[in-house]
Amino acid sequence: MKITIIASGSGGNATLFTSRGTRVLVDAGVGPRTLAQYVAAVDAGGAGGAAGCALDAIVITHAHADHVGAAARYNKKLKIPIYASEATARAAALGDPERVRIFSSREPFAIGALTFSPRPLPHDAAQVALVVDDGARRAALVTDLGEIPPGLLEHVAGCDVLLLESNHDVDLLESGPYPQHLKRRIRSSRGHLSNREACALLAALPGGTHTVALMHLSERNNRPDLALDAARDALFGKRTRLVAAPPRGPLVLDASLPPAPPLGVRQLDLFSGM
Ligand SMILES: [Zn+2]
Ligand SMILES: [Zn+2]
Repeated sequence: MKITIIASGSGGNATLFTSRGTRVLVDAGVGPRTLAQYVAAVDAGGAGGAAGCALDAIVITHAHADHVGAAARYNKKLKIPIYASEATARAAALGDPERVRIFSSREPFAIGALTFSPRPLPHDAAQVALVVDDGARRAALVTDLGEIPPGLLEHVAGCDVLLLESNHDVDLLESGPYPQHLKRRIRSSRGHLSNREACALLAALPGGTHTVALMHLSERNNRPDLALDAARDALFGKRTRLVAAPPRGPLVLDASLPPAPPLGVRQLDLFSGM
């Protein structure tokens, strides 16, 4: 399974999951033209795995514009099924209802070679985490949550790839330019996950996750180096690769990779050799 992060953050979210001929876009925060451009860039770069951009379906996590803004356009242009929970379908413009498929936010559903296992997340819209399984590898997409709910760790444990929100640095948010009501909303238990909260989940992860991508980083209230430093400490000694998703990709992750060398050990070796 290949995972192509097309966009991540408040400017738009879209992640492509590809395995054995099945191609599903999760979230439609960028339009079909941007998607086609980014997929073409991946193919030109030789990373492969996402040739062309014919999609089998789109899955929407929740009804916020940065995740669903272009859904109706895909529905109209590509005439493919759009999957959403009932609450999301009610709250968002998904286009022609004939092509809208409703999933239960606690029941797995299959699209071609991929099985999606949703789980509700605390956010100020009905939101789900998704574990995507192609029978050989599993990847989890967990963004737009105000706190780590009970049972989430068990839901994502053992996934080969974890795409986890690391939205803001608490100090940058507090000292930043956002109005108080917006700061309160972001920090709340139905807002977004801070670097520190993301680290609590990362530190508790059992083995088996070879790649972690930090997602939905705020361009105002976070910096990739802060998020990565915190996550590196939380994952210290684990055999995990760590990346921060850029606001605009494409960034390709391969769920089939073997475990990485233990995080942090190479830096220590460098010091002891000096
Ligand atoms: Zn979002
Ligand atoms: Zn949201």
